[in-house]
Order: sequence, then C-alpha cells, then structure tokens
Amino acid sequence: MAYQISDDCIACGACADGCPVNAISEGDGKYVIDADACVDCGACEGTCPVGAPKQA
Ligand code: SF4
Ligand code: SF4
Repeated sequence: MAYQISDDCIACGACADGCPVNAISEGDGKYVIDADACVDCGACEGTCPVGAPKQA
C-alpha cells in the first residue's frame, strides 16, 4: 500500500521536500505520489497543511 494525495491538495510543495525517497512530484494541479517509490513512512501526511495525503 502507498499513500495517495487527494484533490484537497493546494500544490504547496511541502510534502515533496519532506519525502525521504523523492516519491512526490508536481502533477496536473496537484502533487502526486509514485506508488512504486513510496515506502509508506507517513511523513507527507504530517507535513501537509490540508491533510491531502492519505494511506490508500
Ligand atoms: Fe514519501 Fe513517505 Fe509520503 Fe510515501 S508516505 S510519499 S515515502 S513522505
Ligand atoms: Fe499538496 Fe499537501 Fe503536498 Fe502541499 S503538502 S503539495 S497541499 S499534498
């Protein structure tokens, strides 16, 4: 299982800076997580100001 970013994302970029494996990149209007790279650490969930990353 990996984390996924919901449509609540405001594309601030904070989660991408905190991801230890660089699994987060800017997508179309929001940030997206590469499920193959994500190691389920949960850092992005704690960093996000709007709670957009959720465990899938
Ligand atoms: Fe990166 Fe961890 Fe978030 Fe996965 S759960 S995208 S490894 S910060
Ligand atoms: Fe989107 Fe939250 Fe990441 Fe900011 S920290 S880019 S709002 S998922």
